[in-house]
This record gives sequence, C-alpha cells and structure tokens, in this order.
Amino acid sequence: MEQEILKEMKAVFTEKFGDKTTRSYFSPGRVNLIGEHTDYNGGHVFPCAISLGTYALVADRDDGKTRVYSMNLADKGVIEFSMTGLAYDKAKDWANYPMGVVSVFEQAGHACSHGFDIVINGTLPGGSGLSSSASIEVLTAVILNDAFGFGLDMVDMVKLSQKAENVFVGVNCGIMDQFAVGMGKKDCAILLDCNTLSYRYSKISLKDASIVITNTNKPHSLASSAYNVRRAQCEHALNELKEVKPELTALGELSNEEFNKLAGHIAEPLERQRARHAVYENNRTLEAVAALEQDDVERFGKLMDASHFSLRDDYDVTGKNLDTLAELAWAQDGVIGSRMTGAGFGGCTVSLVRNDAIPAFKENIGKAYTEIIGYAPSFYVASIADGTHRLG
Ligand code: ADP
Ligand code: MG
Repeated sequence: MEQEILKEMKAVFTEKFGDKTTRSYFSPGRVNLIGEHTDYNGGHVFPCAISLGTYALVADRDDGKTRVYSMNLADKGVIEFSMTGLAYDKAKDWANYPMGVVSVFEQAGHACSHGFDIVINGTLPGGSGLSSSASIEVLTAVILNDAFGFGLDMVDMVKLSQKAENVFVGVNCGIMDQFAVGMGKKDCAILLDCNTLSYRYSKISLKDASIVITNTNKPHSLASSAYNVRRAQCEHALNELKEVKPELTALGELSNEEFNKLAGHIAEPLERQRARHAVYENNRTLEAVAALEQDDVERFGKLMDASHFSLRDDYDVTGKNLDTLAELAWAQDGVIGSRMTGAGFGGCTVSLVRNDAIPAFKENIGKAYTEIIGYAPSFYVASIADGTHRLG
C-alpha cells in the first residue's frame, strides 16, 4: 500500500518538478478516543495517531522558494511561496499550513536558507476532524528540522505547529492535534495533560475488537464559530470560579465533587453546563484510561458513551449527523462504545467494535444513516501508528 502510494507520488513529482532525488515522509492523522473539548480547558485527552495520514516527497531547491503540490487538491495546482517574511495569503489556499510552519520557524530563529519542491498525498478525509491540518503542519516541521538540522525535538515541533495554526492560519485549536500527530506511537494512545504537557503512553489492547471511525460526510459545518463560543463560555466560567478559588488555573484541575460545590458561583446556567462538561469529561477520561489499563474494555466503552451524552447535552456540539451515528452504533450488536470525536457538529464518530461484528456494523449503519440523513457515511478501521517520521 505504502509502496504503491509512493510510486504514484514519484510519477507526479517528476511530472511537476522534474527528475530529482527525493526524500519521503509520513505524518499520521489522529483520533481522540476520549477527552473531548478538554484540551483548551487544561484537562486530559487520550488520542492516538492513525495509519491514515499525509505522505510527502521532498527535494531541495537551491533558491529561497518552495513549490508545493497536493494530489488531493490537484485543481489548486502548484503553489509557490518564499521561505522568508511570510504572511497569511488566502489565495495560497492549503499552502498556508506549510507556510505557517515556515513562518513560525523563522520567528523562532530557525530561518530556512533554501526552499523545496514538495508533493503531498493524503489518505485522510480532510476537514473531518481527523486532523489533516495538524498532519500537514507537523509534516512540514519535520521536513524543515531534517533538512536544516535545527535539532528541535518533537515536542518543540508540536508547539511550533500549533502556533502556526493559531497565529498564522488563525484557528484557535488546542495542543492535542499536533501532539498526537507528532508524538504518536504504534499500538499506544497518549494520555496527555494539556495543562502541563506531561504525558504517558498507554498500550492499547482491545483483544477481539477494533477502533472504527465513521465519517458523517457532512459537507459544511459551523464548527469554528461554535468552537470559539464554547471556549469563551468556559473561560468566563473559570474566571468566576477563580474569584472564590484564586489558585485555580484551569477547569481541568477540579474533581467533580469540587466542581459541584463551586458551580453556584457561575452565574449563567449555560456556562455552568459547559464548564460541567469540561470538568466531568476530564475526570471521565482519567477513569477511562484506568479502566483500559485494568483490561476493562467494557467500562471504557461505557465511558465513551457517557462522553457523547455530555457532549450532546451539556456541551451541545453533536448535532443530528453525529447523534444519528452514535445512536445507531449503540443499538448495534458487538459495539463496546461509541462517541463523536473531534470538535463536533460534523466530522467523525469513534467506536470500539468487536471484529466479527464490523461487517454488520458497516452494512446496517450505512443503510440506516443514509435513509435518515440522505447521504452515506464512510468507515475506516484504524490501526494505531507512529508519529510523523522520515520513511526508508
Ligand atoms: P481537519 O484538520 O479536521 O482535517 P481542518 O479544517 O483543520 O480539518 O483542515 C483541513 C484543511 O487542511 C483542508 O481544507 C486543506 O486546506 C488542508 N489539507 C488537509 N489535507 C490536505 C491535503 N492532503 N492536501 C492539501 N491540503 C490539505
Ligand atoms: Mg484541523
């Protein structure tokens, strides 16, 4: 599979940029198993890198220009940018992701003395909450670090990639996506404390089950505006709690009991509800990881379901497509747990499904969802992969 992808990319590279010596890289996407909308609330997340992601073929150029071509967005053609003094440029479309990384590298004192010719090819559905954007950002960071020997470690590159998305592209995402993409490890999920960035790997053994990602294929979503509103609501709730508990720095520091004692200090019922999700989801994540590590996959599944309820009822970020997929999954034999993953509204669900039940899962849910929604979902059985790296 990988060899075929690279071979096809090589042919495209030669057509676009000529016959040059190339290096190849792979950067995964990620799926978050539990801990949603906790990252910017200083809580825990539990994502893993997946075998779907973004490949790159790269050749050095001897001038200061970079030319990029995406096989997934062929209609955008070859996009060219300079390696210095960059600013966001709408006309450059998706190239703003690699440009953003080049720009934050330069600002951090890692100026690039020459450019590249790059072909990329993604196996991830873009814009579906599997972090194709973070995949491209960390990919770019690793290409630059490798070419210029900047000596950055992966956590540095993760932080710079997040900064590129935040300040250059202008998407106010938390650290989870880039962290999972860059720091992923085969067969492990990462328990990450987004407040301190302390993390540990947790080996995932699902025995006779697999991680199944189901894409709603919802064409457009209002995710980014709603996301900003949720962030603001939680921040405001936190500030009210700080008035009575000044040492508090993040909602993720509270136990459920502590939160319930303090919650009356959050004046707006809606903000109280949002904050409750952030607190409960964080504690649920810790409980879920403990369950998985005690081999209690069933309990983990129940907590995934509870995560979806909280995202639906308290955080209000699910919507009809995701609720439909989750409800259909819960009613299906062999499903251990199912929830929305990513920011919400559209994107994907993640389910733990017994291997022998996967064909019926796809068949039944595919049919029922299409009847209710009017178009079909897509299914991916995910394997847990390593973070961004050079191939071969
Ligand atoms: P997500 O990160 O959840 O996939 P985003 O909206 O954050 O969704 O990022 C999607 C954007 O990333 C796309 O609109 C596109 O600009 C860019 N992108 C993702 N994958 C590719 C690709 N293979 N080639 C070019 N651009 C891509
Ligand atoms: Mg993204």
